[in-house]
Amino acid sequence: MPNSRRKLGQYRRKSGSAKPWQRLTTPLSSDYYVGVNGPPSQRPPVPSAKDRAKQLAVQLRAAVAEAKAAEARARRLGEQVMQALAEVRQEAEAVRTGVEYPSGRYECASCRQSVLFTHPSTELSPCFNCGARNYRGPKPKVTHIAPPTPSRYPSGMYECTKCHIRAAFVEGVDVLPDCEFCGAKQLKQVG
Ligand SMILES: [Zn+2]
Ligand SMILES: [Zn+2]
Repeated sequence: MPNSRRKLGQYRRKSGSAKPWQRLTTPLSSDYYVGVNGPPSQRPPVPSAKDRAKQLAVQLRAAVAEAKAAEARARRLGEQVMQALAEVRQEAEAVRTGVEYPSGRYECASCRQSVLFTHPSTELSPCFNCGARNYRGPKPKVTHIAPPTPSRYPSGMYECTKCHIRAAFVEGVDVLPDCEFCGAKQLKQVG
């Protein structure tokens, strides 16, 4: 605003010193009308509806491209999460299942060397003769730890039946949350 006011002052000073005929023929600076209420013909041109529609169409195309890229990224992440969830289950299973080899005499399955283990252990050390780890001997004790009480909705991949957006739960939940995308209460386990 101060800028256009300064320009206006300049114009007035200039026209004030001009002769009357000059005043009539001197064209008005277009700056004079920028930001002030000049006649509509002198205002900067308003883009036509067609121009605006063209610009919006370009923006729409960009937004669709972004959405497409985001969807591909989400699909890739979904596959990775499924893989990771499978590993989580294996890990949990391994923690629940413990193996203990009792003390006693074992025979190396490769070189038939007899080895005496004096303490029970979770892992037999390699045969001192040939380095193999396969033995014949007392049966290992397998201990199963009871799994914790399962959640109502176990860990896994869920999909909204309304908008088909997926969500992964690494831990089970008792109350299903709403869909993070559309807000519907329609998540269903899919993997
Ligand atoms: Zn051996
Ligand atoms: Zn949804």
